[in-house]
Amino acid sequence: MRVLFCAPEVVPLAKTGGLADVAGALPVALAERGVDVRVAMPRYRTVSLTKANPLGSVAVAIGADAVEGTLSETRLPGTDVPVWLIDQPRYFDREGLYGEGGKDYPDNLSRFTFFSRALLEWLGRQRWQPDVIHCHDWQTALVPVMMRAEGSSRAATVFTIHNLAYQGLFPREQFPITGLPWSLFTMRSLEFWGQVNLLKGGLYFADVLTTVSETYAREIQTEEFGAGLDGVLRDRRDDLFGILNGVDYSAWDPSVDTLIAARYTADDISGKRACKADLQRAFGIREDPQVPLIGMVTRLVDQKGLDLVAQVIDELLDVGAQFVLLGTGDPRYHRLFEELQARRRQHVGVRLGFDNRLAHQIEAGADMFLMPSRYEPSGLNQLYSLRYGTIPIVRKTGGLADSIVDATQDALARGTANGFVFEAYEPQALLQTIHRAVRTFKDRRTWQALQQTGMRADFSWARSADRYVEVYDRAAARAGLAASPRGR
Ligand code: ADP
Repeated sequence: MRVLFCAPEVVPLAKTGGLADVAGALPVALAERGVDVRVAMPRYRTVSLTKANPLGSVAVAIGADAVEGTLSETRLPGTDVPVWLIDQPRYFDREGLYGEGGKDYPDNLSRFTFFSRALLEWLGRQRWQPDVIHCHDWQTALVPVMMRAEGSSRAATVFTIHNLAYQGLFPREQFPITGLPWSLFTMRSLEFWGQVNLLKGGLYFADVLTTVSETYAREIQTEEFGAGLDGVLRDRRDDLFGILNGVDYSAWDPSVDTLIAARYTADDISGKRACKADLQRAFGIREDPQVPLIGMVTRLVDQKGLDLVAQVIDELLDVGAQFVLLGTGDPRYHRLFEELQARRRQHVGVRLGFDNRLAHQIEAGADMFLMPSRYEPSGLNQLYSLRYGTIPIVRKTGGLADSIVDATQDALARGTANGFVFEAYEPQALLQTIHRAVRTFKDRRTWQALQQTGMRADFSWARSADRYVEVYDRAAARAGLAASPRGR
């Protein structure tokens, strides 16, 4: 089985969110299963320092312009997995991946049309041909659309939705940039209320769809979570699968993590004390092992439940908890948390920016990790938290619902409890749950039982990778069907 990953961000080369973690780790897990896998991504500025061998160039049409791109090849660091880097400095030599200062680049349609076309053009000239092209999110959704438009059956396509809220919407006037015929600007392809919707194209034209948890796969077929595309997803429900993201434990495990103050394991968790002290120092809050320390690492966007946090934070600090947050995103939240920190400097630490080391320090040093998300397709941080003995406090949605078991008496007795879960998206529900967590924190035996359950759980990629292989088989079978005289 040969699989080409087509991804807009890949750890450790470029990252804004969980998609990058998936695109950096799943190919490695697949390779370990004997899949012949390659990855293709844009050569952003952050990638240009990576050593790569030049491969060649391609020219593609972007609207009326012919744009030349160059390709080079590197490997996923520490592995043999080849990565094709597609470059055009005009598009990719920039500060951000998709935008800056919370604003998208206005030419994103050109940028990702270019990436998709250049990749297909290049692929057309290679000996190595994939059985499956696995695309991720709106940035790569044009690949299955372009293949279908060309009548190409050279590979099956799998499209993964990492977050349905990001759809790649562009004004109708920009449609010619894609080079696709206007016959594809219809309700059953790329048109969405008069605009171009790249994600929608991917949903209609890929052979198989996946998303990153079973609960989210169900949720997005409802109006509440469907972001306007629930109808499309209901149409395609027989081809839609939920597979929870795995964790790359070579990067996220306190027994090997070199970014934290001390190593520790489930058998000897004592190093976590040093990590907590280190974190308190890093944020300049009181160094005290007894006080419950709540951490958050997140993109600062509405999805993440930050309005709830804002509503309960003062009460939470009043019960004697500390709160540290690392995040970047919406300027509105930047102001909110800056103001909070200025007001409660003793108990609150805020770092606005992207900082991988600090993300690790928070996972290791906090006692609890907060994810009150409005929705959460998979979520990685709650899985990292489990391994670091940091108890997740989560809302019951998406991948959070699929991985975190509330500390009820029952679940504690069965030994399955690993966190705290609330359901209603309401500040009181969150606050009560945090209070419950803080009370439990003082009961050392119960707390340690929660930590042990979490730290010993296995959310590695091995399990998820097996499921992806099944999905690839299914996609290949489905594409084979399409090529037969019966067609689709
Ligand atoms: P999402 O994909 O919605 O951003 P996930 O929980 O699936 O949420 O993944 C987020 C990933 O991005 C985690 O690996 C997290 O540590 C990382 N991350 C998010 N914000 C930051 C930040 N400001 N600094 C460092 N890492 C971050």
